[in-house]
Amino acid sequence: MAAYDPENIFAKILRGEIPSTRVYEDEDTLAFMDIMPRADGHLLVIPKTPCRNLLDAAPEQLAAVMATVQKMSHAAKNAFEADGVTIQQFNEAAGGQEVFHLHFHILPRHEGVSMRPPG
Ligand code: 5GP
Repeated sequence: MAAYDPENIFAKILRGEIPSTRVYEDEDTLAFMDIMPRADGHLLVIPKTPCRNLLDAAPEQLAAVMATVQKMSHAAKNAFEADGVTIQQFNEAAGGQEVFHLHFHILPRHEGVSMRPPG
């Protein structure tokens, strides 16, 4: 697996070098809005420490990120009056990953409404 690149876009968001709409933050994790939402309320949750993806994650990073994913899933479901929530996570280019800093997608879902395609 390639090394972690500190110039990836989410590392720049963490450092405040590029803008983002932050919705939650604690000591270990950050949640912010996806720039190209595939559902209303599409959020991303990332660890604050360097981590390329799930294959590269330490147990403590995963525990912290998953706790925030659960918290944000409840919040997004309530805020967007959704019927359910889809969680997505991609690893390496072959697995669909485009930004190489570990992240989980949170997508509030409504009955009968498909997710929008990427892009
Ligand atoms: P993945 O790596 O999981 O395939 O996709 C990366 C996700 O990051 C995409 O959903 C894309 O819309 C989002 N994204 C890419 N660049 C930015 C950015 O500069 N700001 C934000 N907020 N999201 C981004």
